[in-house]
Amino acid sequence: MEFKELGLPKDILKAVVDLGFSTPSEIQEKAIPVLAAGKQDFIGLAQTGTGKTAAFGLPLIQHIEFEKPETQGLVICPTRELCMQITKDLAAFAIYQANPNIVPVYGGASISDQIRLIKKGAHIVVATPGRLLDLLNRKAIRLKTVQRIVLDEADEMLNMGFKEDIDAILDQTPEKKRVWLFSATMPGAVRRIANNYMKEPVEITVGRKNSVAINIEHRYYMMKERDRYHALKRLLDYYPDIFGLIFCRTRRETGLIADKLEKEGYDVVALHGDLSQAQRDAAMKKFRERTVKVLVATDVAARGLDVNDISHVIHYNLPDEIENYTHRSGRTARAGKTGKSLILVNTREVNRIRQVEKLIETPIEYKPIPNAEDICEKQMYALMDRVVKTPIDNEAIDRYWPVFYEKLKELHAEEIILKFISTELNAFLDYYKGSGDLNAAQEKGSRVKGREKERGRFNRNLSGTKTRFFINLGENQHMNKGALVRMVCSETGIESYHVGRIDIHARYSFFEIDGEVAPKVLSKLERGVYEGKSFSVSASQEKEYPERGYKRKPGKKKKHY
Ligand code: AMP
Repeated sequence: MEFKELGLPKDILKAVVDLGFSTPSEIQEKAIPVLAAGKQDFIGLAQTGTGKTAAFGLPLIQHIEFEKPETQGLVICPTRELCMQITKDLAAFAIYQANPNIVPVYGGASISDQIRLIKKGAHIVVATPGRLLDLLNRKAIRLKTVQRIVLDEADEMLNMGFKEDIDAILDQTPEKKRVWLFSATMPGAVRRIANNYMKEPVEITVGRKNSVAINIEHRYYMMKERDRYHALKRLLDYYPDIFGLIFCRTRRETGLIADKLEKEGYDVVALHGDLSQAQRDAAMKKFRERTVKVLVATDVAARGLDVNDISHVIHYNLPDEIENYTHRSGRTARAGKTGKSLILVNTREVNRIRQVEKLIETPIEYKPIPNAEDICEKQMYALMDRVVKTPIDNEAIDRYWPVFYEKLKELHAEEIILKFISTELNAFLDYYKGSGDLNAAQEKGSRVKGREKERGRFNRNLSGTKTRFFINLGENQHMNKGALVRMVCSETGIESYHVGRIDIHARYSFFEIDGEVAPKVLSKLERGVYEGKSFSVSASQEKEYPERGYKRKPGKKKKHY
């Protein structure tokens, strides 16, 4: 099908050509004829990345009478990011209209500037619910003349707790209006909005409900909890060309993981609610411009994130609300591209994989966590690719050529290649020295295909240290492993994966802590009270224990990608 068969006027078709859209996407093909005719309410079940902005945006522009200054269109969406993106898209669709005025209003920016823009006469207002309600309460905006309302990403808005705001807004819109609702999923709460505010809507689904794009490969990896971070690093190393998102469950975890990765030389940036708006904007800018290759984010912060060509979505932890898996993985494989959604689970979480499989109605493949050999191989291939693609600047080279030549003339071409490869490879071998197999065995009865419990090649040389602590609490004081981990983490603020081996005895216990956070543990936990009994903690004098995984050597900080 072609755009010109969808019932859009010429000036809008011209804008479509300018945008380089050659054929309509599925949602556009199905939605535009209904919305262009303009007579019915509409529900479109579609993910981001399917072209839904144009599916509602093009017909919305068509219905606006730009010679009238009043507000005729209202788009409500969950986040500031999406609000700006939609505004930009609508402006592009309206390029051949006379003086289109499309105003975004969202929280975290000056409300008086927004009021000024609205006062100038906005044909379409694109708004986040909280800010729009604020403007309505201040009587800075009136919705009496609105004829068409788009609720974009309705499920996300309800997830974010905007239900009451949306009700309050819709209650202030004229009785006679069209509502166009778009949502990736159709939970009961969205259905209720539809029932309350829409009349006999036409409902169109692109793909299945709750579905994720078919061109996403879903995989899961299983490790012990304490190896989660190391497993993540292996995935990042295994995909040197990644342009991806890592999802964490909390702001704290997001900040922590991003910090650690950054310190270890990975190109990452964090995006979460504890950052200021300016910091979030800066993070988004870096990611969008690909100055960094990986964005570590919470579900909430990444809502409405609209970046194309994301190659991987990594779930450092699965979301508490399993439905959010659909939103997370929908960030990849947009606009017909392919993508990978990689999940890290510990041995006790494997049943959650089944829940996700049920939700997305797609099997998730078990994959072993890459070992040192796999990673070195991938890194080498990536290096070769980069080398082959690197253009030669003859002029610049000429200057240095005599020196190069003098130094290398005794070596054969083959030897030069070998040395060149080794320069990179040695760094990786060194880095992965002592790295074991991080794959944890599956629970009995669950299915595993592929390699299980495979040993890494470089197991012999263990490096990195843990500090062993002594605490004068044991079984007699009701201390057990779980209680000890909880106490250490809550008292010191360290993450549980920093806690290693624990030995509980009758009246005392030993526990290991990653060397890097050990001083913190000692300073914060030297003395305390546990279930009414005072205790003291001291560094054990026995010996230092090698860490299970690998550890980068000091001074060997290597830039990745
Ligand atoms: P959306 O789902 O609206 O966020 O769109 C996802 C991406 O697909 C955006 O970058 C659009 O510019 C692009 N896009 C939308 N419709 C088409 C189309 N018909 N042909 C090519 N690209 C499109």
